[in-house]
Amino acid sequence: MKIKKIETFSTKYLAFVKVITDTNDIGWGQMSTYNADITTQIFHRQVAPWSIGFELDEEKPNFSDHLQIILEREHKFPGSYLLRALSGLDTALWDLYGKLKEKPVASLIGGSPKKIRVYGSSMRRDITPKNESLRLCKLRDQFGITAFKFRVGSECGRDKDEWDGRSKDIVKTLSKDLGDKVDKLVDGNSCFSPLKAIELGEFMSDLGICHFEEPCPYWEHDQTKIVKDALRIDVAGGEQDCDISTWKSTLGKRIVDIAQPDVMYMGGMYKTLEVANMAHQIGMPCTPHAANLSLVTICTMHLLTAIPNAGKYLEFSIEDESYYPWQKNIFNGDPFKIEDGLIEVTNEPGWGVEINSHWLENSQYMISE
Ligand SMILES: [Mg+2]
Repeated sequence: MKIKKIETFSTKYLAFVKVITDTNDIGWGQMSTYNADITTQIFHRQVAPWSIGFELDEEKPNFSDHLQIILEREHKFPGSYLLRALSGLDTALWDLYGKLKEKPVASLIGGSPKKIRVYGSSMRRDITPKNESLRLCKLRDQFGITAFKFRVGSECGRDKDEWDGRSKDIVKTLSKDLGDKVDKLVDGNSCFSPLKAIELGEFMSDLGICHFEEPCPYWEHDQTKIVKDALRIDVAGGEQDCDISTWKSTLGKRIVDIAQPDVMYMGGMYKTLEVANMAHQIGMPCTPHAANLSLVTICTMHLLTAIPNAGKYLEFSIEDESYYPWQKNIFNGDPFKIEDGLIEVTNEPGWGVEINSHWLENSQYMISE
């Protein structure tokens, strides 16, 4: 069974990949979101040409080394875009094998269909503590969500709050309003110097916050390590790190307590499983980054059923079309239904989702064959 052609359907924000074999078997995957039209160009230039004609084993997935070979052939182009593109191939091939074997991807990678606890993940900083509290409490009561993450500092903010005093205000407000039964996580998005991060971290520990994500500029590994060593609160990070060698180094130095690879930044499931496994070897939980309701969240759901060091919950974006206009009507039905704070990985083959044909018709089509 050979890969015969690969089609892509892209917009500026989102791109899907359809792999078709000479036996007319099909798998659907996705590249990472944002500048997905650029990623698509890279896909057809640097990923697809190595993959057309690739012989797939009909019995079991045999493409792990093929993904690595693409990176070796393109070794002059290390970095995010190539890996974002590679994710499209990896995730389409997992879907293809799922459909061939009539099993969900979860079952192919050592997991099984089940319900997973989610944490509601806020993306907003322009929101006042009071209004953030209103919407998170509403989601808690409506969907039974038992954990939430909200934002402190400002993005790569050089120690500046979004506005003066917001970080401590929102921690105080949400700590009180969400209550003791809800896990409370915060994300600093690379805002703080170690000194400020430790000061805020201690304040947050006293108020019951359990997870401090990306406290320092993510590329400053030693700064993150200082904060992690100083605080009782779990320090989490790694969402931007897409390179295996970076992970080897940061896991080796234990700069965080919780590893957060992103399936779509990493180059797909194989590479993310590799990171999760390396974290497992050192006894570290893995709570992947999944910041929007595209295929990245679906892939992460399947992954969490399979890894022994799965963190306590799935990141689940609470933002709707007002924040992510491109997120609307991507899939048929509702694969993101939450009940009692849980989301379900179903028994459907592959990723178990169907892309909306109307969305595909309105995207840009390209083919490699
Ligand atoms: Mg984050």
